[in-house]
Amino acid sequence: MDINKPLGNGSKIAVIGGGPAGSFFTILTKKMAREQNKDIKISIFDKKDFFEPGPTGCNMCAGVLQDNLIRQLEEVGIDVDSISEEYIHGYALCIKDICTALKVNEGVKICSIFRGGGPANFMISSGRRSFDRLLLSHAEKLGAHYIPERVKSVELSKERVRVNYGNKGGYYDADLLVGAFGVNTGVVKNIFPGYSPPKTWHVCQTELPLGRDWIMNKFFNMIHVFFLKPRGIKLLAATPKGDCLTITGLGKDVAFGDLKKALLASEISKYIPEKLDIACHCHPKIPVTPPKKPYSDRVVIIGDAGYSRYLKNGIESAFITAKYAAETIINIGISEKILKENYDRRCRQRFLYDNLYGKFILYLHDFIMTNNILSSTYLTLVNREQNSLYSKKRLSEILLHIYTGDIPYRSIFFKSLDPILQFQLTLQTLRILVGDINKIFKFRTSNEQRLN
Ligand SMILES: Cc1cc2nc3c(=O)[nH]c(=O)nc-3n(C[C@H](O)[C@H](O)[C@H](O)COP(=O)(O)OP(=O)(O)OC[C@H]3O[C@@H](n4cnc5c(N)ncnc54)[C@H](O)[C@@H]3O)c2cc1C
Repeated sequence: MDINKPLGNGSKIAVIGGGPAGSFFTILTKKMAREQNKDIKISIFDKKDFFEPGPTGCNMCAGVLQDNLIRQLEEVGIDVDSISEEYIHGYALCIKDICTALKVNEGVKICSIFRGGGPANFMISSGRRSFDRLLLSHAEKLGAHYIPERVKSVELSKERVRVNYGNKGGYYDADLLVGAFGVNTGVVKNIFPGYSPPKTWHVCQTELPLGRDWIMNKFFNMIHVFFLKPRGIKLLAATPKGDCLTITGLGKDVAFGDLKKALLASEISKYIPEKLDIACHCHPKIPVTPPKKPYSDRVVIIGDAGYSRYLKNGIESAFITAKYAAETIINIGISEKILKENYDRRCRQRFLYDNLYGKFILYLHDFIMTNNILSSTYLTLVNREQNSLYSKKRLSEILLHIYTGDIPYRSIFFKSLDPILQFQLTLQTLRILVGDINKIFKFRTSNEQRLN
């Protein structure tokens, strides 16, 4: 077939990876092909059984689905209600002993899910409900063929791509190869010349089986974010998920020992039992840079292994890259030049520049939240906004945008330049500084009086 033309009737696609990116791509391609009366054969390769508990079935993530993604999934006929463990009502920002609640607006839907069959050493009472399995089943219903094997190598030639899989010398020839293998795989690293995967952070996550009553009593339906500075951890997030509380330690290289220490010796320890019961833990990677050349003749790389939003909404990014790839191969072609101009360019426009704003915003946010004076300023202002019926909730809205990722980082940046908000922040900082100086002055005077 001519690679400068769209895939036609009877074309074959091999998808490596049955995580969100692989399934989204399959679902979207099948739907678009059907609209054009094309029959395109898609085979998805993935060894993981997503119904299995623990690492054999899990793609290691906090499992928070945000409103934007849920709506896009509904549009393609995927209803996440059947696998949702908890509906999330907002975020609580915790500094020292104070937690400030930021509720999401009425009608905004956020939920937490398990990617696989739940934690390794704990049976969840709701039964095994897997998000990745739900997506893969949907792709299968649309006619995709799921092959439960690991891809060992790939051979590219002018006429076709060959995928070698499993331990019995199985192979599959296709017109197009879609790499949806994420960043936690070593097998397909040098898949073709020129491609390098995104650079990653090595984060750490654990599931605490505290029981839903305990979790609702201490955390309500709110994701709690703790700003602390134990070794290597930038931020600790606690996500209610039915019987379990998912703890995510975000940082460049977070060791499980450091995460455990943080749980036992920081503010979060007040919210969890003294004796830690851990159902499972993992060390996934998270992409923090763009990839190099995620396309070639007959190959396109999507999801985490391609482009994603900086430290936010990874599953939604998988959906977006899958959509751009599906539209390109169904409507335009599969040559390197076409994929560069139509897939890669759109991804770069969407993620590359916005992620620069994202890096700046998250750096600043981290700096503010771990600085005594600036964090007091923030939280005092947020509390005032939350308790007032009439005042505009400028800062609360910006923080909610940062946590839910519902608008681009660039828009958050420009919203935060609002002169009224900047005036309020400056005034509040001055108030706190004057209060602190007064306290020091009073302390000195009373000390001098005592000594005299
Ligand atoms: C700690 C942490 C918390 C996160 N929390 C969230 C969150 O709350 N919300 C959110 O939206 N995103 C979150 N993310 C990001 C999210 O997990 C990823 O963006 C998302 O999983 C990317 O999907 P993917 O399909 O590209 O890759 P993956 O989910 O990694 O799927 C890749 C698939 O490819 C398969 N595979 C790999 N190699 C081969 C091979 N050789 N042969 C066959 N199959 C192969 C794997 O088995 C896997 O199933 C989080 C990430 C981390 C690390």
